[in-house]
Amino acid sequence: MSNSTLPPLPTYSLWPLPPVVSWIPDKYLTLVLPIVAYWALSLLFHWIDELDLFPQYRLHTPAEVLKRNHATRWEVFRDVIFQQVIQTAFGVVLGYLEEDAVTGKDDYNVAVWARRLRLAQRGLPGALAMVGVDSTGISKNLALAHPVLSSVFAGGDYGLYQPSVSGDIVPAFASWEIQVAKFIYWFAFPAMQFVFGVLVVDTWQYFWHRAMHMNKFLYTTFHSRHHRLYVPYAYGALYNHPFEGFLLDTLGTGLAYLLAGMTCRQSMWFFTCSTIKTVDDHCGYALPWDPLQHITSNNAGYHDIHHQSWGIKTNFSQPFFTFWDRLLGTMWIGGDVSARYERARLAAQRKVDADTISHTNVEDSLAAADDTAPYQIEAQNASSLAKTAQASLQPSIPAGKAEQQALGSRQQVLDDKVSGGISVLVEEDAEEAEAQRVLRRSPRKKTLTSSSNNSSTTTAAGLKGLRDRMNGSLHGKASGVLGVESSR
Ligand SMILES: [Zn+2]
Ligand SMILES: [Zn+2]
Repeated sequence: MSNSTLPPLPTYSLWPLPPVVSWIPDKYLTLVLPIVAYWALSLLFHWIDELDLFPQYRLHTPAEVLKRNHATRWEVFRDVIFQQVIQTAFGVVLGYLEEDAVTGKDDYNVAVWARRLRLAQRGLPGALAMVGVDSTGISKNLALAHPVLSSVFAGGDYGLYQPSVSGDIVPAFASWEIQVAKFIYWFAFPAMQFVFGVLVVDTWQYFWHRAMHMNKFLYTTFHSRHHRLYVPYAYGALYNHPFEGFLLDTLGTGLAYLLAGMTCRQSMWFFTCSTIKTVDDHCGYALPWDPLQHITSNNAGYHDIHHQSWGIKTNFSQPFFTFWDRLLGTMWIGGDVSARYERARLAAQRKVDADTISHTNVEDSLAAADDTAPYQIEAQNASSLAKTAQASLQPSIPAGKAEQQALGSRQQVLDDKVSGGISVLVEEDAEEAEAQRVLRRSPRKKTLTSSSNNSSTTTAAGLKGLRDRMNGSLHGKASGVLGVESSR
């Protein structure tokens, strides 16, 4: 009996793998679970929203959700359902092509890993000899105190034998080899497949997402739909043009599943985790106790910057890691964003306050809340002023790359005629002016100082005042919101 013979692999027979849930085949359960997870988590965040349980961790106020988004909650809900129908139909078609899962081969596969371990040990003395280490000598020294380790250094010579099925005496694995092989087969290798799948999804999504922002046709035709949400919320995560949803999300995770060679049961975890991460990235909260926000630096706060008109050309990475943004220089580098957020908060609140005063009955204010294009009038009346204001606003942005990011972002919003356009920028410049004015008069009290309820007049006046003030602040006096910004 020679030690050069490897321990034999056990025989096996295959039989159908019983489904996880008795009444639904695994290949359909893997399609259902992500959708259940999507709506369960979304419902949880919606409930947190409605009851206002964690206002201190909100990225945006309810007033902003009401005033800044260019899609109603119904439109978002409807389009997400539509995307999930397409995704499920695609999965069902693929399910037909896929063979039914079988089982019975696990012990065999564990033994294959144990054999690989044995072969690695065989190569050890030779590998150590190349760096001048005497493996045989080490083996002899360890023989008494550490017999197992001694056998490893001897090239996997354990002198263990067992009777085979046919009655012959054949080499056997050491128990540690089987234990480690089990760990690899049941845990380490699937974990590697998972991580590999994550990298595939991140890579696929980054480059498509970036292309969607670089190519004007792709942006205006498809991706601008997702950017109607300037204030993302959980179930807006998959609010996309159907083509984009299919290309980025369905094909992206499907490709990762195939390339990583996952089993159907692995895909349940993978698809569900990807979905949960995407929802969490849009949840609108920076929750300190939400593990998903801390596993990687890609989280709700990170992705929220991408949803702002000033950050839209940055932070393309999604949904797991940020390394592509870091490597390819597309990460937001404009510094502290708290002043920008504060500005948007104040402005949205001001609009809600204005509504409450100008509309005497509930129906009217409800109708105003449903208005999907609240910035149209401002756009018509104030676009030339906006350009002036834009020019005078530029000094508040640090020169160099951050300035390019800001300009690029403004241009993207300008190019988008449906959910962006000059109206959004005009609105924001006016917001900036108003936020400063309110802050100066009374830092915490948001009194309604604009006597006019005609928003276009307010905007024009706000812009003129802004231009004057900006010119003034260029000569050394910066305070309030912009003071924080320019001190970066
Ligand atoms: Zn985008
Ligand atoms: Zn998004």
